[in-house]
Amino acid sequence: MPDEIEVIVPDKGEVFDIELEEDLLEANRKIAEENKQLLEKHRIRAIDVMGSVGSGKTTLIERLIGLLKDKYRIAVFGGDVTTTIDAERLKRSGAKTLQINTGKECHLDANLVRKALSKIDLNDIDVLFIENVGNLICPAEFPLGTDSRVVVISVTEGPYTPLKHPYIFMEADVAVINKIDLAGTMDVDVDELEAKIKKVSPDIVVIRTSCKTGEGIEKVAKVLGLL
Ligand code: MG
Ligand code: ZN
Repeated sequence: MPDEIEVIVPDKGEVFDIELEEDLLEANRKIAEENKQLLEKHRIRAIDVMGSVGSGKTTLIERLIGLLKDKYRIAVFGGDVTTTIDAERLKRSGAKTLQINTGKECHLDANLVRKALSKIDLNDIDVLFIENVGNLICPAEFPLGTDSRVVVISVTEGPYTPLKHPYIFMEADVAVINKIDLAGTMDVDVDELEAKIKKVSPDIVVIRTSCKTGEGIEKVAKVLGLL
């Protein structure tokens, strides 16, 4: 039997600035609620798209825009630490695009989204996609005020993402398993991956896509109530 691995965890109260963090999350929730009311008032459907760097968030949004652009007036907020690479891509897809650079922060927060909402004409939009910063940890804790939250994972991440990062799946309404065209190459059992997602988040809707071929994109749009 191998020795058990010693695990270091913070004692209760040992985490730095724990009160500050609680205040921050509470302040974020309040602003998220205001964002939600503002979006509802303007009848805008907003979707927060979360997931790792490289999972396919931008490509999924591009595909959805391609599918829905004749039906809705679409805007996109692209969250990124410093670059505008994704925002430029999304702009080419024909949607109104606004970049939100977070500086050092590894997630979007409701305050940044409120700021972005103040920069666009809300009477001119039916659907808003918000691409969160590529990260599976803190975006879960920072709701933005959207109607739906989607988490995108790719089969190239291997089979353990849902177990290692359960919170983001618990917070999301829809999980998209992307790049299923690569499942065979990656030797990933997609049924098993889906079962792991359902285990950590029993109510989540799971959809398999290949943003490369377009497979599953209509299902995502349907589940989000956009088709
Ligand atoms: Mg992206
Ligand atoms: Zn963060």
